[in-house]
Amino acid sequence: PLSAPANAAGLKLHAQGLCKFYDGFAALHPTDLKVRSGELLTLLGPSGSGKTTLLQLICGLVKPSDGILTIDGRDHTETLASQRDVGVVFQNYALFPHLTVHENVAFPLQMRRIARTEAARRIGEALEMVGLSHFGKRFPLELSGGQQQRVALARCLVYHPSLILMDESLSALDRKLREAMQIEIRRIHRETGSTIIFVTHDQEEALALSDRICLMNAGRIEQIGSPQEIYERPVSRFAADFIGVSTIFEGAVEGDRLVSPEGVLPLPAPAKAQKGFLVIRPEHIRLEKPEEARLAGRLEETIYAGPESRLIIRLDSGLAVTARRSSSLPPLRHGETVGLSWNPEDARFLDR
Ligand code: ATP
Repeated sequence: PLSAPANAAGLKLHAQGLCKFYDGFAALHPTDLKVRSGELLTLLGPSGSGKTTLLQLICGLVKPSDGILTIDGRDHTETLASQRDVGVVFQNYALFPHLTVHENVAFPLQMRRIARTEAARRIGEALEMVGLSHFGKRFPLELSGGQQQRVALARCLVYHPSLILMDESLSALDRKLREAMQIEIRRIHRETGSTIIFVTHDQEEALALSDRICLMNAGRIEQIGSPQEIYERPVSRFAADFIGVSTIFEGAVEGDRLVSPEGVLPLPAPAKAQKGFLVIRPEHIRLEKPEEARLAGRLEETIYAGPESRLIIRLDSGLAVTARRSSSLPPLRHGETVGLSWNPEDARFLDR
């Protein structure tokens, strides 16, 4: 289903037919989306899929070409960005370089004319939440990228927006810092109860962070669901390919079999479509003796990844199959013929 269960009270945001065209080009096709109160939703998709456009429509930086946007049950289709209770954290942090950390975080409160003692209390609270209590007097250039990112987050948290939008805001950080910030964001999300919409093109980040993932492709929502739902039940070839690692066989359907260039493969159940794809995840592939296996190919690469290694096995058709194998087993030889089997019910058939 494209939407969360209908529950008017628990609904933070509702887009109906929301779309954006530039000179006839659809940056976002008419889109329906429901975001629940307190949910952490990621918009995930490749470059140009419309994630930022959807975010800009939600915060009011861009006017929709058509459709309706409701936030907290109020129509916000035409309201100014400043009239929306929405906080935004941008990719480049957009800190003021000539202001200290404290002054940067104070800025949104000055704009809102919050009294000085209340402001001081909130600034202290926000800096503590992001672990920067002792950095108030520094200037942004005296901070690391990760610390600057925390200041940007504090500057957003300080005015208690009930909806927070984050656009690729961890993408400039190195892997370790990014993972640390993902944990911070989950903690802040829990502690504040705020609704967060987080844009990323990194599938691992989306899987790690989200209550639900909204997968986008070419200006449309491709699939929306929990990380587990999307990983285990991708609805399309695009979804199967974009999230996790998949081997995808393509062919003609004959009852409960797929006739592919790699061979005749069993489907999990008889299908009505004439053509389709069979998707298999690496964890479902068993390595067997070539003469006893469903398919066989040559080992092309072994990629060490801790306790498990990833194997790339090239079939005669040219298709590469990805499998996994315990790193503690004796290594297989490069070029060795390897047999591949799986239980038919572990594969997933897709007719688009
Ligand atoms: P990225 O991950 O690269 O930021 P994205 O998924 O956020 O990509 P958008 O920025 O929403 O994608 O862009 C969607 C499409 O709309 C792109 O093809 C883009 O070129 C186009 N687009 C976005 N903004 C404009 C604009 N102001 N004028 C014309 N085309 C635009």
